[in-house]
Amino acid sequence: MVSRIVLYKDCVNILNEHEIDDAEFDAMCIFQDVFREKNPLFKPNEEVESLLVDKIYTDVDCRCKGKPLQYVLGEWDFWKYTFRVGEGVLIPRPDTETLIENVLDICRKNNITSPKILDLCSGSGCIAITLDKEIPYSEVWAVEKYDTAFEYLEENIRLNNSGVKAMKADVLSAETADKFRDFDIIVSNPPYLTADEMQDLQKEVQAEPETALFGGTDGLDFYRSITKTWKNSLKTGGYICYEFGINQHDAIADILRVYNFININFTEDAGGIIRTVTAKKTEE
Ligand code: GLN
Repeated sequence: MVSRIVLYKDCVNILNEHEIDDAEFDAMCIFQDVFREKNPLFKPNEEVESLLVDKIYTDVDCRCKGKPLQYVLGEWDFWKYTFRVGEGVLIPRPDTETLIENVLDICRKNNITSPKILDLCSGSGCIAITLDKEIPYSEVWAVEKYDTAFEYLEENIRLNNSGVKAMKADVLSAETADKFRDFDIIVSNPPYLTADEMQDLQKEVQAEPETALFGGTDGLDFYRSITKTWKNSLKTGGYICYEFGINQHDAIADILRVYNFININFTEDAGGIIRTVTAKKTEE
């Protein structure tokens, strides 16, 4: 039999030997997940039953092989909510909370109390579901193309008791866009990594779906296509809000200007990188 503290230290050592950046953090997350306790080391000398020991070593082994911590745990927090994640769906990132703040600001400043919101390339649904929960009288739609991601989206809607309406469809198709009209806000965190960036991905990011990461040679394919194709789904005076990658802001502002969007405003994420844009659709 092994005590929690001895097991924990062994896991930290193994993770360190495999050059995992923050071995203590990862070991603690795995312990919290397996024991379903916030402070599993509060009882350091408690003996761990062998089934749980096996589960912990299996998780540590997966992590050592480069599986993202979030996939090992099977869930991750974003804003105030928890989302199921695993292979085939992009992991919610803190940077994306900037996009949530943008949409909440737009609703507050324009007194939109019951907005119709559309989230494109929804993935796990972290954006759509968070907005649906945070804005009580909203009507939120989420569009996602890929099977596995769509399953996570539906599961996360259910687990969070959210009223988001999900549609499995390709956002690059004009036929999909034609089905949506009169939205106050379109929000999207589409794939935006460039061909060069895709060559140089961290091991963990390589485990995430390429379809959620790669945005074409210059990373901007989805911004060009969504801005053009989905503009008609917005009300006049409605807003489009995008997340994008490092140094893409000027190119994205150019795209938005081509389609006559005005009031183009950027926001930095917590790391000081210009990360999101909001822009308003003008009168035709
Ligand atoms: N933010 C992700 C990354 O940096 C990319 C996600 C995306 O392309 N939308 O890896």
